[in-house]
Amino acid sequence: MVAEIMRCCIFLRNLLILFYFLFSQAHAFEIIRDTELEQFTDDVLSILLKANDLEVEELNIYFVNSNQINAFVTGGKNIFINTETIIKADDYREYASVLAHELAHIIGGHIFNTSIEISNLSDKAMPIYLLGIIGLITGAADTGLMGVMVGQASVNDGFTFYSRTQEASADQAAINILCKNGISGKFLINFLNKIERFETANTLDAKSYRSTHPLIQNRIVWIKSSLANFENCNFEIDNEMQTRFELLKAKLHGFTHPHTETEAVYKTSADEDLYATAVSNYFKGNHAKSIENLENLIKKNPLNPFYKELVGEIYFVNSDYNKAVSYQLSAIEEIEKANDLYFMIIGNYLLYLENTEETREAISYLKKSISLNSKNAYAWYLLSRAYAQINLIPLANYATAERYFLTGERELSYEFAAKALKHIEENSPEWYRSKDLIEILKKKVSNNR
Ligand SMILES: [Zn+2]
Repeated sequence: MVAEIMRCCIFLRNLLILFYFLFSQAHAFEIIRDTELEQFTDDVLSILLKANDLEVEELNIYFVNSNQINAFVTGGKNIFINTETIIKADDYREYASVLAHELAHIIGGHIFNTSIEISNLSDKAMPIYLLGIIGLITGAADTGLMGVMVGQASVNDGFTFYSRTQEASADQAAINILCKNGISGKFLINFLNKIERFETANTLDAKSYRSTHPLIQNRIVWIKSSLANFENCNFEIDNEMQTRFELLKAKLHGFTHPHTETEAVYKTSADEDLYATAVSNYFKGNHAKSIENLENLIKKNPLNPFYKELVGEIYFVNSDYNKAVSYQLSAIEEIEKANDLYFMIIGNYLLYLENTEETREAISYLKKSISLNSKNAYAWYLLSRAYAQINLIPLANYATAERYFLTGERELSYEFAAKALKHIEENSPEWYRSKDLIEILKKKVSNNR
């Protein structure tokens, strides 16, 4: 009986925290996608997971466009990382220590009480793209794809949801993960100290942060005692990782901070400074300056795909589609690991050339994009446009059904799948998939009624 009352009260308390959390700090948040950001993070995670059964592919990593430092986990192996977390880290190993802590919650199977809200939202989310955002807006304005906001929920603080015990054990496990994989454990302490300094300087954030986290000084005490278990957890820096990290931070700064701020922080002629100001000048509309910086960078580093990707984007927004295509194609050549966004972007550019041959090429790239990530709703949207452009309407209807399925609009998805099925070539993969969609949706739609 006593135990039951205890459980009930804990449940109620968590419910109250959830309501407090949703109503007091609720604001819309944006999920962003970017190849450079995703690939760097995957590489850090691969280092951290070397000695573990978990694979990077099993994790869903979401990047939240936010100027507040935070990272948290929700059920279903989802890790959310605010962009500012990366910007505020001086060393890639500080970022690695944040990821190690979040991984520790997943590996430890820690109970997360309020995952439902956020994970449901993320299923329906249309991410915005760090690059390609302007193309996305112009291409999507009349299609209902403008809803790039994930929804009303706070992402201020995920640490709230774990007990102090679980936090302590996640910190302990994080030290274990770092030390076993060649990253000095002291970087977790460095980063926590930095958060504290940052939060103290910013009184507005301090309230929410302080009220929801275990005190940083307490965390540092238990982290130090975990570190004492390792004879030697000091390792050399990987200079190549650090260089990539500096460039990534520079790009994110240019994207998420005001132009004047980026210009004040990145003011030399170093690579990262040229990169940061290339991005911020791009958003400011100073495209010539942006291209000049990027061409300088390309001269010095002709194998870096990300510079070329951005030049392509700038030509695209200036309606120079041929140049956009050629830069994006060479970015695809230089990229080490295939990525759905790269094929999605080239597909988008090719569509703007508006002739049959290039549209067919676009279709083949978009199919590649979807084969790498079948949940890329925007690639499905582009594929439907491509099919429609060359009059393959049943296939366009099928691609639209897939897109609506992903964005959670079930009735529309059903409608388009049914339309597709009537005229699509029998026994083709798209025919089978339309039938499957109808079956799945019949169940879901009737369950909802
Ligand atoms: Zn935690």
